[in-house]
Amino acid sequence: MTAPARLDGRVALVTGAASGIGRAMVETFAAAGASVVVADVDAAGATAVAAGIAAGGGRAIGVAMDVTDERQVEAGFDTCIAAFGGIDIAVSNAGIQVVKPVHEFAFDEWRRVVGIHLDGAFLCTRAALRRMYPAGRGGCLLYTGSVHSKEASALKAPYVSAKHALVGLAKTVAKEGGPHGVRTNVICPGFVKTPLVLAQIPELARRHGISEDEVVRTVLLKDTVDGVFTTVEDVAQTALFLAAFPTSALSGQSVIVSHGWHME
Ligand code: NAD
Repeated sequence: MTAPARLDGRVALVTGAASGIGRAMVETFAAAGASVVVADVDAAGATAVAAGIAAGGGRAIGVAMDVTDERQVEAGFDTCIAAFGGIDIAVSNAGIQVVKPVHEFAFDEWRRVVGIHLDGAFLCTRAALRRMYPAGRGGCLLYTGSVHSKEASALKAPYVSAKHALVGLAKTVAKEGGPHGVRTNVICPGFVKTPLVLAQIPELARRHGISEDEVVRTVLLKDTVDGVFTTVEDVAQTALFLAAFPTSALSGQSVIVSHGWHME
């Protein structure tokens, strides 16, 4: 049997890490030996998650970071370097969802969703590369995409558009980063029971004219092979595998973790 993946001596920064999938990633990375920066627009939440990791013997700090704010993103990466001496793994994970048909979206709402997912990923990528390239020790960039990086669902146009775009960003950065030893991959989860998903179920029920239970069965999990939600642990273990993978043999890829909702 292979030993579990380890990240001893590595430094990881994860955005949107005060909750859900991002939180599971920082906790998993820290348990594997990494020093972690818990970055989130929810500063108190980020501090609390970091304190929990530190209380368990891990190395973690929380930073306030709105991923759409260039200065906050740069400052968060500077804090990471100052605290831990470098950056090896950066995960662009922060996200939100707004559920309504395209013709009802206000331009500001569209820009907010696309801004957090795509502009946020760009700012995070650029900040990481500007520190990884000169350090000369390679690196790993991960993006939390979605099955919605591969296919669409009604009522989620800006989210689906931005998640598709992340695949293009990751493939481009895989090509540019290859010579520097920087690899990129997109993790594409199916539905995971986090606040982002739980908050949209009532609205989906209203829009589809069905009960919340039916939303889960006939909308969210309809195309899975077993009717089971993906978990934060499933996604975090995938992130750990990709973060610990030693070469660019795996770069520019999408790894779909969705109970077979989407198959390639
Ligand atoms: P979540 O709501 O539990 O966590 C999202 C986190 O992002 C929160 O802590 C929130 O404060 C933070 N955030 C929001 N806006 C931000 C900003 N501007 N700057 C920094 N942080 C910000 O949701 P989650 O399900 O864990 O989502 C994490 C990622 O996973 C998202 O990119 C989401 O699209 C993706 N995803 C989720 C699912 C799912 O089913 N839950 C499936 C596929 C992909």
